[in-house]
Amino acid sequence: MPGPALGWIPGELAALEAKGLRRGLEPITGAQGPVVSIGGRELVNLCSNDYLGLAADPRLRQAAAAAAGRLGAGAGAARLVVGDLELHHELEARLARMKGTGSALLFSTGYHVNAGVPGALVGPGDAVFSDAWNHASIIDGCRLSRAGVHVYRHRDVEGLSALLAASRARRRLVVTDAVFGMDGDAAPLREIVEACERHGAMLYLDEAHSTGVLGPTGAGLAEALGVTGRVDVLMGTLGKALGSFGAFVAGSSELTGWLVSRARTFVFTTALPPSACAAALAALDVLEGEPERRTRLGALSARMKGGLEALGFPMEGVVAPIFPVVLGEEARALEASRRLREQGFHVKAIRPPTVPRGTSRLRVSLTASHTAAQVDGFLSALRDVV
Ligand SMILES: *Cc1c(COP(=O)(O)O)cnc(C)c1O
Repeated sequence: MPGPALGWIPGELAALEAKGLRRGLEPITGAQGPVVSIGGRELVNLCSNDYLGLAADPRLRQAAAAAAGRLGAGAGAARLVVGDLELHHELEARLARMKGTGSALLFSTGYHVNAGVPGALVGPGDAVFSDAWNHASIIDGCRLSRAGVHVYRHRDVEGLSALLAASRARRRLVVTDAVFGMDGDAAPLREIVEACERHGAMLYLDEAHSTGVLGPTGAGLAEALGVTGRVDVLMGTLGKALGSFGAFVAGSSELTGWLVSRARTFVFTTALPPSACAAALAALDVLEGEPERRTRLGALSARMKGGLEALGFPMEGVVAPIFPVVLGEEARALEASRRLREQGFHVKAIRPPTVPRGTSRLRVSLTASHTAAQVDGFLSALRDVV
């Protein structure tokens, strides 16, 4: 039982449970992969962000183990104290090269980037403009910045332009996900770039789901549309397609130099461990050397998308290996997830506040390590369940 001051928690948890909004942990036994073991059962895993299937790749494992052997388990301090490793600089140079920017700066997680970087760019008296479906970490970062926050309708560039035109703020920052993580659709980036240029606003693009996935070399949506040099702040994570852990900002050396001094979530936290950096470097080698992984992911995605559309789920605008199977009520999504589990498929129900009320869903995602048979098996199980 909790102490008396925490006595309110059990009742609140029961209320969440009754609304189908309680969340719980479920450990997997063994490694991440296209099949995972949970509670003694092998399940086809259709909910990871390990899009290139690299999290358990032997080359990343060996690189991580070797770096830990050579340099230790932890960085020991923040970068600005004595945790600044040469390995961090090597990885930053590689990330800048991959993204096609002058510079890159590592952060502990994507959450740290989004929570702290907006506040280094805008503050009280300034304005930030944020897509209504942006990731929770962006919402938090906008609030923490203490700038005025203007939320525009999802993908609505006209609405954004009107807000920009009406703003008299000193500095203005537009923030958007490149690919929206619960819907798989992309921001209208070219139009947003033009709106920002027209109104003299800074542009911040979150490439968490597109890094390693979109673009001719897998650099992301900005690369795919040829607008990298026109985006001021590019963020990406190392924990999704790159199979490791950590995150980064790519941009000009002026930008990263400013963030080193002014981004609180860079300054006040322990530097990334050597193992995570080495694994990410190995992932960048794979990204360059094995473009066929992205080809395979594209082919599997087309198969999944076509199959879901045939079952009546609209997939319009889906550009990434993320497929929203929107079912509506929380209970309906939970029940579908449970029944799919019985048939050997692990797909999480995504509920508010992660997605808007009434759009609870199964968020299906694929990796390059899945097989066509797994995709077909899932589609057939889903047909029985819905
Ligand atoms: C996952 C995610 C993040 C957070 O990245 P982490 O490295 O997992 O903390 C930020 N933005 C978006 C859009 C994401 O999907």
